[in-house]
This record gives sequence, C-alpha cells and structure tokens, in this order.
Amino acid sequence: MTSLQQKITVWIVGDQLLEHHSILEHMIVKYGGNAVTVLLIESRARAKKLPYHRKKIVLLFSAMRHYAVALRARGINTDYRQGSILSEFAAHLEEYQPDRVEMMAASEYGARVAQQKIAARLPGLVTIHTNTQFLVEQHNPFPALASGKRVIMENFYRSMRKHFRILVDDADQPTGGKWNFDHENRKPLPKHESPPLPRSFPPDDMTQTVMADIAKESDLTGEVSDFAWAVTHEQARQALEDFIIRRLHRFGDYEDAMTTDSLVVYHSTLSIYLNIGLLTPLEVIDAAVHAYEQGHAPLNAVEGFVRQVLGWREYIYWMYWRMMPELTTANDWEATRPMPAMFWTAQTDMNCIRHVTQRLLDHGYSHHIERLMIVCNFCLLAGINPIDVSEWFLSMYADAYEWVVLPNVIGMGLNADGGMTATKPYIASANYISKMSNYCAGCCYHAKQRTGDDACPYNFLYWNFIISHEQRLRSNPRFGPSVLGLKHLTAQERKEVQQQASAFLDKLEYYESLAVLH
Ligand code: SF4
Repeated sequence: MTSLQQKITVWIVGDQLLEHHSILEHMIVKYGGNAVTVLLIESRARAKKLPYHRKKIVLLFSAMRHYAVALRARGINTDYRQGSILSEFAAHLEEYQPDRVEMMAASEYGARVAQQKIAARLPGLVTIHTNTQFLVEQHNPFPALASGKRVIMENFYRSMRKHFRILVDDADQPTGGKWNFDHENRKPLPKHESPPLPRSFPPDDMTQTVMADIAKESDLTGEVSDFAWAVTHEQARQALEDFIIRRLHRFGDYEDAMTTDSLVVYHSTLSIYLNIGLLTPLEVIDAAVHAYEQGHAPLNAVEGFVRQVLGWREYIYWMYWRMMPELTTANDWEATRPMPAMFWTAQTDMNCIRHVTQRLLDHGYSHHIERLMIVCNFCLLAGINPIDVSEWFLSMYADAYEWVVLPNVIGMGLNADGGMTATKPYIASANYISKMSNYCAGCCYHAKQRTGDDACPYNFLYWNFIISHEQRLRSNPRFGPSVLGLKHLTAQERKEVQQQASAFLDKLEYYESLAVLH
C-alpha cells in the first residue's frame, strides 16, 4: 500500500457474517485488498444484555471466530477484538488510523441508532450502507405506504414472488395455479412417523474453547453441552442440503404438527443460520425450488417453505421497521402480568409447556407452531405483558433477534400491535393442541374439560379471554364464530370459567420483568 492509498475499515457485526459481504467486496474491488481491514468485536457485555441461552452465545462467538479465520485465509487483514464495543472501536481507530469506516446498517433498531450516533460523532469518517441481508431491501412492495396502513402478508408475499421470479410463470401466475397450499399443510403427525434428526456438527477446538468460556459465564440460561450447530458457511450449506434431501418433502404436510417425539419434526432450523448471515435467503429458496423442479419435493412443501422465507421472514423484517420504535410499547390487550416462572424452569404439570420449555433449555430451539400456539397462545390468554414475552423469546431462542421477535411476538402472537401484523388474535383452546400434537395424551389435565379440577388451563383461559373481551371480539369479522360459541355457556358456566381462570392466574408463580427493552 502506498502512502497515497486510503485505509479502509469494514466493521462487520456478529449477525452479518455474510460469505459475500457486499460492502467488504465492494471496498476490496475499489481500493484493493491491502487497503482494507475487517473489524470484528466480540462483546461479552452485549452477550449478557439479557439472560441469553448459552448455546446462542456459543453459536454467535464461534461463528464470528470462524469467520475471522476464513477472512484471513482469503488474505484479508482482520482485527478481531474482545471487549466493550465502544472502547474496542476506539482502540481500533487508534491503532489502525483508518481514513474511512464502512458499515452495513444493523438489522436491529437499537444497534442502528448506535451506529448513527457513532457516525454523527465522527462526521466524514463513518458511512452506514444499506443492509443487504434482506430481500425486501432490494424490492419494497409498498414503497409509498402510509405508516398506519395495514398490508396483509399474502399481498406482500405475492409481490415478492413476482419480483424475484420465484415459482411464477412468464405471465406472473403462480406455479401449480395457486399461491397458497396452506389447507394441505395442517396435518397432525401420524403415530409411527419418525422425522430424521437434523444434521449435527461436532464442535472443533475453536468451538470447544468458546463453549468452555461461556459455560463459566453467570447470568445466562441453558447449558453449552451437546452444542452441535453449524458455525461456518460450509457447515451451514451442509445443514441446508440435509434439510432439502431428508425433510423438505414432508415439511408442508406436517408444518403445524407438534410431538413429544421430535424437536424439529420436518422444519429446517435454517433460521439459526440465516439470521447471522451463514446462509442467505435466496440461497435457501433456490435450493428448495430446485428440489421441486427435480421432482424431489412436492409443491405444497416447497411453496410452504418459500412462504416462510420469502414471505413471512421478509414481511416481519419490513413490518419491524415500519412499526419501530413504538412497537416495543404496543399492548393492545392491556396485558400486565410478567412472564410465568414455568417458561424459565420447565417446572409445570402442563405437559405441552413442560416439553416445549425443557427443549428450549436443552437446545435453544422449538419450531414455529409451538412458539405460536403453545407459548404465545398461553401468554395472550393469560394476559402476559408483550415486552416481557419478547424478552423471554430473545433470551431463549438461538435464532431470535429483535427484528424477528417483536413483530412475531407482539404483532402476530399476542395481537398487541392494533392488528397491523395479524387481523385477529391467534387464540385456541386445548382442542387445537390436542388435534395437532400428542402432548395431551400424556398430560394430567383433560383437553376436553372446560372447568373443574382436571380441566386444561388453555380451556378456561380461552373462554375467560372471550368473555372478558366479548364486545371487541364480536366486532372482528374474522373472530365472529368463536364468539358465537359463548351462547352455549349459561350464566353459571361463565362465572365458573372466570373464577377458575382468576384462581389459576393468581396461583401461578411469576418472575420479575427483565425490563431491558421497556
Ligand atoms: Fe397442554 Fe392442556 Fe393438552 Fe395438557 S391438556 S398438554 S395443558 S393443552
């Protein structure tokens, strides 16, 4: 490098570990590889902002360290630092004296505000570029939309399908003649169906070092033992291939199924890798569509998977940025209780919640229908404060980041955002859980009983919620039939439902709010 050449720092944050990082590649082409240094900061303080699952932190730190190794193997100068973000950034500036610092806009609101503050404090030095991890940054289906206007996911998704030419013909019509195969994708898992386990990756020396470090950290959740996730791009691609070959073909049929016998059923678990940049959305979408074109997976499975990635994932990110920062305080059902202790400890006689929470403590993962219909359903019926539920999700799930949790939990799961994300509350009694899982067969409660000692709490909480919000629910055209069910309850039965719900909620143990995002 000559003295006339500029020195460029590309600061890459932990959830942007893209193999082909757009800003890094651009700077290398523009200024030459010798001029560019990548800055990565591993912050233990940030990793303890909430009581995160230890496996989530191991994943993040190990993937960052492997990323640094891969960059150096490409001959890219890499400054890997451990410590507080601001002081390590200052130390980097002092040591490297860059002429410019280039960053991709963070996916999370708080981190983006922090970037903007840094850029404002160092005018002319720091530039923040568009985030390229999300396809909606390339194509916004509704660019001129008023902020309070509702857009349903289906319309958003169809626009994305057409723009990115995914499962559409030359006339913009959907492959197979239909946009949506949801009605085929609601089967419970047959008794003897045994979904294959996802590909696992024994930890190498570098990962084992991180595991040993994080095992010693206090104030975190879960254990590091049995960590077996991908931490490199190559491993993440193997996890993708494993899903495409062994689980995609049944993903659609059993997308909503829940079972004690399988952690992931036929789900991909690829959100764990997508959300930190080890895979990209188009890469996984293309692989699924290719499997359909080769006759390896049926259309209902492939469309269902594409809907999750190109539809829901992009829509949720888009909605997050439309609704922030107000979304953190949205609480449309005026829910005030903190998170019940059983979601942190798995100590409960409710079989479904015990299974889901124990799995979370063991693995940092459960699939989306358990998140929606076991956890969020309970929390909405029980009146748990949306931000407390969000902080629990952020802590427990390996793939949870603010942009995905807040709209999914506050919007979709708890319907607390004024109906912007979902037009009706997703609430269900034990009937749904019993139909879609085998949890109820091993439970001390009766899924069919509404009140009484053996009644399933989902049942009296469900009817209590409907009674408490009857007028409001009646005015929602999508909820009408459920409210009409109230006419079958006598005044005495209504009273019993309310009394039992109140006694149950009073007896439940609650943990104090974490109050980090409040
Ligand atoms: Fe869950 Fe109720 Fe079924 Fe028990 S009976 S597993 S608490 S839904």
